[in-house]
Amino acid sequence: MVLMDNYARVYHQMLLSFARTGQPTTTESLVNALALSREKVEQSLNLLESGGSIYRDPETRAILAAYPFSATPTQHVVRFADGHFVYAMCAIDALGMPVMLDADARVESRCTRCDKEIRITVKRNALEEVSPPGARVWYMQADACCVAALEQCPSINFFCSTEHLEEWRAEQDSAQGMLKTIEGAFAHGARIFGKLLKQDGKFHAL
Ligand SMILES: [Zn+2]
Repeated sequence: MVLMDNYARVYHQMLLSFARTGQPTTTESLVNALALSREKVEQSLNLLESGGSIYRDPETRAILAAYPFSATPTQHVVRFADGHFVYAMCAIDALGMPVMLDADARVESRCTRCDKEIRITVKRNALEEVSPPGARVWYMQADACCVAALEQCPSINFFCSTEHLEEWRAEQDSAQGMLKTIEGAFAHGARIFGKLLKQDGKFHAL
């Protein structure tokens, strides 16, 4: 048994629940699943929010995102081998998710410029197929003050080709960021999320 503090256990449980159902778990389920007091769960959720790991509706406090997952539909679908799917917050999050979960999956999205389908298969924690082969990702670096869900994620998207990315970019007022190949974007996603649910290099399902 690997010891984790409450914060890590709540985050871990939240990510696993999102992966299974595509939805955030409730405070009540966290209390029951982790045998923690409601107060401790709330404390952990507040810490996760202030650290930028989850995003809640400012009014209702409902969890809208636990990166890399989105509770509401986005254009980035991650479909697992059994057919069930979840929504990712951005292109990098979608590509990082299969490695985070140590699961084979297909990322399904669309070109921001022409709406062409983008399909990327990840098998055994490696890229297997990229369609179309020239697909690219536009990556926007966030300012330190930025709420990722609102300002960064909507600008990290797939394109079917470098040409369509450049055409889109030419029409933006300000598009600070960089072009990434799918290989580069996949490596970036794996760096951010790859070790989140692993202990000693092994997937750790609590
Ligand atoms: Zn296109």
